[in-house]
Amino acid sequence: MLVDDLKAIVGEKGWSVDADELAPHLTEWRGRLRGETLVMVAPNTTAQVSEVVKACAAADVAVVPQGGNTGLCGGAIPDASGQQVLLSLARLNSIRRIDPNDSSIIVEAGCILADVQQAARNVGRYFPLSLSAEGSCQIGGNLSTNAGGINVLRYGTAREQVLGLEVVLADGTVWHGLRSLRKDTAGYDMKQLFVGSEGTLGVITAATLKLYPDPGKTATLFVALPTANGAVQLLARMRKRLADRIQAFELISERCLQFVVRHIPDSALPFGKDYPWYVLCEVIVGDSVTEIESALADTLEDGLISDAIIAKNKGEADRFWRMRHSLSEAQKPEGASLKHDIAVPIGSIGEFLERGDSLLAHMSPDARLVAFGHVGDGNLHYNVSQPAGADGGRFLADGIKLTSAIYELVAELGGSFSAEHGIGVLKKEYLRQYRGGAEVTLMEAVKTALDPKNTLNPGKVI
Ligand SMILES: Cc1cc2nc3c(=O)[nH]c(=O)nc-3n(C[C@H](O)[C@H](O)[C@H](O)COP(=O)(O)OP(=O)(O)OC[C@H]3O[C@@H](n4cnc5c(N)ncnc54)[C@H](O)[C@@H]3O)c2cc1C
Repeated sequence: MLVDDLKAIVGEKGWSVDADELAPHLTEWRGRLRGETLVMVAPNTTAQVSEVVKACAAADVAVVPQGGNTGLCGGAIPDASGQQVLLSLARLNSIRRIDPNDSSIIVEAGCILADVQQAARNVGRYFPLSLSAEGSCQIGGNLSTNAGGINVLRYGTAREQVLGLEVVLADGTVWHGLRSLRKDTAGYDMKQLFVGSEGTLGVITAATLKLYPDPGKTATLFVALPTANGAVQLLARMRKRLADRIQAFELISERCLQFVVRHIPDSALPFGKDYPWYVLCEVIVGDSVTEIESALADTLEDGLISDAIIAKNKGEADRFWRMRHSLSEAQKPEGASLKHDIAVPIGSIGEFLERGDSLLAHMSPDARLVAFGHVGDGNLHYNVSQPAGADGGRFLADGIKLTSAIYELVAELGGSFSAEHGIGVLKKEYLRQYRGGAEVTLMEAVKTALDPKNTLNPGKVI
């Protein structure tokens, strides 16, 4: 019987059917989806992952890979049938090798992102991928969703950090592609096919990742602005003066900080009063902040910004970033929310926000916009919280019309309806709508070629 075979493969500590233990693994982060499973297995070697996948394929049973379960599209949650196997990568979490001279690190898929950042710091290097869920999301999940985060502006997304991969394919075969080459033109670049594939093409078991020089001293700036468009102009001005020394440039709306102050202990408005928009920015400074001060003074004089603070010390910088990283957490207690993780060309951010406001005012005037995002990538979290005290379920059901209108606006501006979180199950229909025709046909052909029995995370993405 399959379950007994799986238990034998992973050993006593490597499986669970206990309801309490399974509960956090069967619910999506926002609680929007709940699944069931035949058994959860947690192998601790690549060989065990291979045996598990092979046994499931032979029995025609679906495997759902799961990392930290912080994904926001339901990709890591099994369906409601109770017939799928949940494959947790949490115990496959060793750092296999770190080589400062080669500026690379080989990590297993279950390594927590924050632990990889720390391992890099321990040898005087820097791993730039950084997002609010970094204390629990895993490298395998980051790669499978092509995660972005706050440092994409300077370093690119997860995709750009990968030099090689080790992947268990649908029939259990292990592809050993853990190279650390910066140049390699030998055939198709297979590793990139698995990045962003949300567990539908293979199970990532390990990755070779790029490390960077320690960026050295940085300054953290909190800037208040009268308009969101001002943030786009501010970024352009700062880039002109500081070039690629800007590491992160995050736009935050007034309501976001109000929610943080309301729900996150020990937080306070940075300026002691509200402003319509803020930018939280991190800049590599070298020895002096004079150049940054003078860049800010110019923009203050022009009225582009309303006020600015440069964090006095690491404690204050950490406090500012804690506020940014708490935005999703602070939105939770405010009830149901529609999350739109969109991208538009950077020059269209102002127009998108202006026209989005009109849509909201017209379609759901009492709903509360909670907008924040990564200006330098044109990626905004255009989230909408339910009206205070409203019925959350009804708001989500009615919200489909608002979501469609927002995605139409995004498409008109040449953007993407999914810029960071992937497709999972929650955005499948939009993939067909906005990437249909040749693009989805190609995706289906790839899926069929790599997973002909459709046992790897079926029902997700396409
Ligand atoms: C508070 C908060 C803030 C966030 N901020 C950001 C952000 O700034 N940028 C961003 O991009 N995302 C963000 N996210 C979304 C989420 O953290 C990322 O998508 C993250 O990369 C998911 O990693 P995970 O380990 O939790 O993956 P999971 O949620 O466990 O899985 C995600 C998908 O990857 C698949 N998968 C997981 N591991 C593997 C593997 N080893 N092999 C094959 N498939 C696998 C799963 O089947 C699923 O389809 C945020 C989420 C939260 C809760």
